[in-house]
Amino acid sequence: MNSLIMPLLNILFPKDCQHCGDNFKAGLSNILCLKCFNSLKPYEDPVCDHCGASLPIRAFEDSAIYRCRDCGDEPYYLDQVRAFGVYEGALRIAHHSFKFEGMENFKSEIVGKMMGNTPETFWSGVEALVPIPQSPEKERERGYNPAVLLGEELSKATRISLVNLVEKINPTQPQMSLTREERFKNPKGAYQVGEGVTLPRKLVLVDDVFTTGSTLEECARVLKKAGVEWVGAIVFGRTPRHF
Ligand SMILES: [Zn+2]
Ligand SMILES: [Zn+2]
Repeated sequence: MNSLIMPLLNILFPKDCQHCGDNFKAGLSNILCLKCFNSLKPYEDPVCDHCGASLPIRAFEDSAIYRCRDCGDEPYYLDQVRAFGVYEGALRIAHHSFKFEGMENFKSEIVGKMMGNTPETFWSGVEALVPIPQSPEKERERGYNPAVLLGEELSKATRISLVNLVEKINPTQPQMSLTREERFKNPKGAYQVGEGVTLPRKLVLVDDVFTTGSTLEECARVLKKAGVEWVGAIVFGRTPRHF
């Protein structure tokens, strides 16, 4: 469409924000107004090492383990996860508009928020950013991989290379469509480390949402089996509970 016509259409047809209901002309997408996007609440430290959710400070009085109740104290392949905020309300709408519209502007705004909420120490010694791959069919259907879009922007912000080290070799069901138990099993055996790749010592996986964490865990598992020493992950949202 002619770029001179677009601003006029926006004025003639203002949009309704799906979060606050306000009529808006300038937003970061067609469904979320700027005011709601700017009011997204990030998780505050201290956070759970395995999912990034905020924890009550009292939880650490007698313990050196930074884990929420959902993650418990079982062993994980993932060493540390940072999440921007809880996947609900305006953040959920922001994610939808990002995931399904793949908007250029929105991507950098989201990554700006993620970076602002991630301590510099998290990136210390990290040699690569690795996007969680989607199946080739999904990629064709959508035209892009949201994890790659986020990864590209994070790479610009951190100056750490984005490298495709993991391949998806078996299909999985959308996590949101499964029961809790199925979600933990779903990604098993679906990923492998690409052949002939040079593996870094420390890397950070990139994905848009942490649901059960099982996809990230499975990717961390295959990477560690292949020799990577430390695997972290960064995501935009973490669901209110692992389910
Ligand atoms: Zn709004
Ligand atoms: Zn947790």
